[in-house]
Amino acid sequence: ATPTAIMVGTGKGAEMGILVKSGGALEIAHKVDTIIFDKTGTLTKGKPEVTDILSYNTFSKEMVLKYAASAEMGSEHPLADAIIAKAKEDSIEIQTTSSFEAIPGRGVLAVVDQKTIQLGNHKMMIENGISISDAESDFNRLADQGKTPMFIAIDGVLGGIIASADVLKDSSIKAIQTLKAMHITTLMITGDHHKTANAIAREVGISKVISEVLPGDKANQVKKLQEQGNKVAMVGDGINDAPALTQADIGIAIGSGTDVAMESSDIVLMKNDLMDVVGALKLSRQTIRNIK
Ligand code: ADP
Ligand code: MG
Repeated sequence: ATPTAIMVGTGKGAEMGILVKSGGALEIAHKVDTIIFDKTGTLTKGKPEVTDILSYNTFSKEMVLKYAASAEMGSEHPLADAIIAKAKEDSIEIQTTSSFEAIPGRGVLAVVDQKTIQLGNHKMMIENGISISDAESDFNRLADQGKTPMFIAIDGVLGGIIASADVLKDSSIKAIQTLKAMHITTLMITGDHHKTANAIAREVGISKVISEVLPGDKANQVKKLQEQGNKVAMVGDGINDAPALTQADIGIAIGSGTDVAMESSDIVLMKNDLMDVVGALKLSRQTIRNIK
């Protein structure tokens, strides 16, 4: 490999907003046959908004939103931002919590107004023995629409569902189509429920989905694909994605993502445009042609 070709490639990349952090990346990227995309913040804009609020038992929608927003005040999750924004929009009074705990890959546990609030996904409710049979059909309907429904239990009783939706980035569908035309296998990975994940994957044109992945497990999923003989690139933006970006043969971070994702990657897409994943592979092909 001539250093000159690498330098030229790196320079061209920089002009296109594709920041190549190691010259080695340009020598490997053209061999990639499998690309795993994180869902939230990578394929989607990562700014979920509340779309539906449902209440059950003796609770009102206002109570559901009040307890949920109060419980989320200590959380840094984008879903928390969505719920708090909705409460503010509806002029709901947010209360202080007397205790708060984030449960990774599940939700939050808090005490609000001397009531124990459990807010999170299906798994969290099942694990805590909350009866959600009244809400199963609503949950399924919302998740099949690609929304993320969150349950709230108040003192152990199901109070409601708050669903949020996140839209695809403009570039997602075209990038997936182009990669498929290049005979590259595309996958989506997410902590979200399989119904939500499958609906989003269908919308973007990805047929292989790894869903309900715990925050610490994304890297293992990358490793599995490598052990099956694939050259794997991972595209992600979150703190959760960092180990997977490191594990992948090529880690590609979204420029608007977290610092740790960028630090763990080989390539950073400064324009947050997924067509630049295609651009990076092409840049590598050109660089290799110049080397040979
Ligand atoms: P992702 O980055 O794919 O959203 P996470 O592991 O952060 O994955 O979350 C997985 C799921 O756990 C979410 O889809 C949501 O249902 C639930 N969850 C996580 N954090 C929260 C939270 N703060 N409030 C409500 N639900 C949450
Ligand atoms: Mg993400």
